[in-house]
Amino acid sequence: MKIEKDRVVRFHYTVSEVGQEPIESSKDRDPLTILIGHGNIIPGLENAMTDKQAGDSFGVDVSAADAYGERREGMTQRVPKKHFGNTRLQPGQQVVLQTNFGPRAVTVQKVGMSVVDVDLNHPMAGKDLHFDVEIVDVREATAEEVEHGHVHGEGGHHH
Ligand code: ZN
Repeated sequence: MKIEKDRVVRFHYTVSEVGQEPIESSKDRDPLTILIGHGNIIPGLENAMTDKQAGDSFGVDVSAADAYGERREGMTQRVPKKHFGNTRLQPGQQVVLQTNFGPRAVTVQKVGMSVVDVDLNHPMAGKDLHFDVEIVDVREATAEEVEHGHVHGEGGHHH
């Protein structure tokens, strides 16, 4: 079964900045499970997967614009230090901040006595990425999954 809109794909991936060591891999945990065609993964990776099938492996370079977007200026925010609990903070460190819009990965820029400047850009924004992908399996999405726009059951939403 080929990968196309309204199908659910399970896959392993390893991601690196183009020409560099891997940043992250799913190899030591469960594969990622996503519904195709509903904006659940970065567009460059979704495009590269289209028409592939279970057992296929491939590598693809995805430019920043088709990955996590370009870095935007003016995305620095000053946050009271107490919001970080007892975490020891260092510039360059990535932390998860609870925001009004839910948890968000941010990068620490500057640590002051009582406030911390963080960069709200996605940590991989502005980076051209290379993905190595292994398709584990592909199935039809259920009508309910298509309606909700995400995967249910194993590897997906439980509600
Ligand atoms: Zn749902």
